[in-house]
Amino acid sequence: MPPAIDAPKPAAGQLPAPAKSTPTFSPDRVTVLFVLGGPGAGKGTQCAKLVKEHGFTHLSAGDLLRAEQERPGSQFGDLIRRYIKDGLIVPMEVTVQLLENAMTDALRKTGSVTGRFLIDGFPRKMDQAHKFEEAVCPAKMVLFYDCSEEVMEKRLMERGKTSGRADDNAESIRKRFRTFVETSMPVVDYYEKEGKVIKVDATATPDSVYATTQKRLAERLGANF
Ligand code: UDP
Ligand code: MG
Repeated sequence: MPPAIDAPKPAAGQLPAPAKSTPTFSPDRVTVLFVLGGPGAGKGTQCAKLVKEHGFTHLSAGDLLRAEQERPGSQFGDLIRRYIKDGLIVPMEVTVQLLENAMTDALRKTGSVTGRFLIDGFPRKMDQAHKFEEAVCPAKMVLFYDCSEEVMEKRLMERGKTSGRADDNAESIRKRFRTFVETSMPVVDYYEKEGKVIKVDATATPDSVYATTQKRLAERLGANF
């Protein structure tokens, strides 16, 4: 059945891609771990360590959005800028397509049909979770970094001194916390019910959190994960 309203057609080579029902990547060949946690919980830090020692490919949804925002000719630059500043979730079609493109690129670079991805800071909203698993790849597990707002705020304010990020300031941080609690925690709860969440306390030092991460992953995925 045709849609009731004609969606605007993106130009060739632009986002988003058409809706489809079979995932692009099979979970037999492509392992996806979602990495979730509040802003400043340490997702990026832990992912970097996992890449180094366990050979995952790290894709940060926020980094991909910031790169798209800066890409000359992007039709989404202004939209992404506004959403990020306000700590809101960018419409999922954009983010899902950026992730799919990045996964395709990464596999092309290695020349392999198999891959292991850490998808950092995504999905932050239920619609994204469903869309990604339906159209791109079903997820194996969710690594959830649990941290108090007090600790996260301190880290973000510290990072803000040098990050150059438009959302590492007190006002944006407050909005991001709110979005996390209202919109993103339900995603964690959903996967928890599916039995897919590996929860790690993220208040300690990076090395100590990493040690816990490795232990938990080994328990769930096997010693040679
Ligand atoms: N963002 C989004 N959709 C996503 C991931 C990120 O809209 O799937 C936006 C959102 O505005 C978020 C911002 O990008 O607040 C920064 O995300 P990032 O993951 O870089 O921040 P972190 O949580 O790691 O500090
Ligand atoms: Mg991050």
